[in-house]
Amino acid sequence: MAAWAQTAWHAVLEADKTVTGLADAWVPLALFLATYWAVGLGFLLIDRPWAAEIKCQPGKYVAWPMVRKIAAYVGAQHLTVYPATTWLLSGVVRRFCSFSPELPSARETVAGLVFCIFFAEVYFFHVHWALHHPRIYPYVHKVHHEFTYPIALESLYFHPVESVLNFGLGAGPMILGAHVTLLYLFTVIAVANVCIHHCGHEVPLDSPPFFGSMTHQHDYHHKVFNRNFGVIGICDWLYGTRAGYDAYHERWEQARKEKKRRTKTE
Ligand SMILES: [Zn+2]
Ligand SMILES: [Zn+2]
Repeated sequence: MAAWAQTAWHAVLEADKTVTGLADAWVPLALFLATYWAVGLGFLLIDRPWAAEIKCQPGKYVAWPMVRKIAAYVGAQHLTVYPATTWLLSGVVRRFCSFSPELPSARETVAGLVFCIFFAEVYFFHVHWALHHPRIYPYVHKVHHEFTYPIALESLYFHPVESVLNFGLGAGPMILGAHVTLLYLFTVIAVANVCIHHCGHEVPLDSPPFFGSMTHQHDYHHKVFNRNFGVIGICDWLYGTRAGYDAYHERWEQARKEKKRRTKTE
């Protein structure tokens, strides 16, 4: 692993001797919050008509008062629900993750990441699907669906119960008994991705083979409610909850091409 990463990890371990919960709670929480606010606020820059060509739902923009509402609601949970849950779960992280001074190899880290990504797909799909059950939906997940055309900041706009349930997405490193730095890395990747999947625009490097743009898939979920419950698209393909999406996306592509062609000929 890179020398700077090893040096940084040694510094965390050293500081952890005097700051209770630093390595198992506060570092992952700080990475989580920094990634969310940086990526979430950054995407506000493209949520404007100048990026209309890549907008998933053309012409649909969240008004500023709603952006402020989202930021205040999520920000309040970041000062309460998130630190409390992180603190409560820090014992689990300490128990199941490794805190060895030696960082794992790059190969081991990549293999761990692949497992975490597939685990998150399976966990998120099933929890999300269950939260859409008519008997549960009005009490918890309805909050997240207040917006039918999401923005990146809306990615964490959840009822507090769902915010806590989402901590399960980070269980991969604990299941593997991996080094805690895998949890750090996966936290950054997962939070950046959840922001991207809510940004409402088609962005590069967001399309796994066969399943296509993860942002488009989740944007469609916000539009129609009962399709595309997963992240990558694997579980939706297996369960048949992707029905109708491919035709919808094809129409979106055609509309974009047609718009481009008209702009050229004008
Ligand atoms: Zn969403
Ligand atoms: Zn949903």
